[in-house]
Amino acid sequence: MNVIKCQGCGAIIQTEDPKATGYAPASALKREEIICKRCFRLKHYNEVQDVDLTNDDFLKMLNQIGETDGIIVKIIDIFDFNGSFINGLPRFTGNKPILLIGNKVDLLPKSVNPNKVKQWMRKSAKDQGLKVTDVHLVSAKTGEGMDEAAVALDHVRQSKNVYVVGCTNVGKSTFINHLIQRSTGEKEAITTSYFPGTTLGFINIPLDDDTSLFDTPGIINHHQMAHYVSNQDLKVITPKKEIKPRTYQLNPDQTLFIGGLARLDFIKGERHSFVCYFANDLMIHRTKLQKAEVLYDNQVGELLVPPDEETRKVMPPLKSHSFYIEEGKTDIVFSGLGWVTVPEGGISVTAHIPEGVRVSLRSSLI
Ligand code: GDP
Repeated sequence: MNVIKCQGCGAIIQTEDPKATGYAPASALKREEIICKRCFRLKHYNEVQDVDLTNDDFLKMLNQIGETDGIIVKIIDIFDFNGSFINGLPRFTGNKPILLIGNKVDLLPKSVNPNKVKQWMRKSAKDQGLKVTDVHLVSAKTGEGMDEAAVALDHVRQSKNVYVVGCTNVGKSTFINHLIQRSTGEKEAITTSYFPGTTLGFINIPLDDDTSLFDTPGIINHHQMAHYVSNQDLKVITPKKEIKPRTYQLNPDQTLFIGGLARLDFIKGERHSFVCYFANDLMIHRTKLQKAEVLYDNQVGELLVPPDEETRKVMPPLKSHSFYIEEGKTDIVFSGLGWVTVPEGGISVTAHIPEGVRVSLRSSLI
């Protein structure tokens, strides 16, 4: 029997096991465009089931990339560097050139210095063991930075294959669609969606007669905030347009709630401004530290939203992380949500975020 591949995600179509990848009902095989049930639901109902790669599949995929002579394009969501980093990757990349692409630059406030973002990306990648050849900031959605990235890609690849890797929801499909559109003028060549967990199987996209770009499976990283929130809440925490900073003057012993998903306590220091960079629709609530626990217990899901009811069923409890910020303008980064900038050091703060999601410090991007 001929192998049929899903035109949405590239998985091999099968009609036996509805729970396995590539399932399509037999009737779907008569259609002109054959897509798996998962892509069908995504396309027509904008609904996805998360698909997890087993460790074995994941290693197989990385091995496959490791053994080739191509170059790697690693896409991260600049709002979720930690959540969108593929941990096992450095072991398999060897000396291959790696182009690190920071996507969703359209959401950054104009005051952000792009060079600082690139420096931070390069350093964060290095801290995780990944040495990158080149760093680019793009918006796959608006096209900003895409020309430059595409030229760099051609330059670095020197007629070799390209493997595009990234976690779910970083915008990998949107990025590749943009590249395809540049070369062929076709719109929406592969499926994209609002929700994480969309790409399965290696999809081969010819670049010229001899080489191809391979779209690899979008890997689910369980540290991503996106996996702990309902589809409805994901819409609230995902910025839709340029973020507007919101500034709070805080005294010690005051707290900021980021909806009910995260919290930042000002423990010690002089009165200070805290500049918040989160999706404009995500509510921020200021209160006294003393009252914070009770307020959270009584108001989570009510005044402090998101989380909605669905999110609360799956969201791990908040875990606290304490920091002393020594000097300089610093960002306290809540992975997958946004960050808070404090203009000077000499203060102690405690950040709370669902267990498993990362909080980190970086030198301010502004
Ligand atoms: P994938 O799972 O990595 O393939 O991600 P998708 O391409 O499906 O994109 C995930 C979500 O991010 C979708 O809602 C996209 O519209 C959105 N997205 C992708 N690229 C960008 C971008 O450059 N800017 C913004 N603002 N959103 C983006």
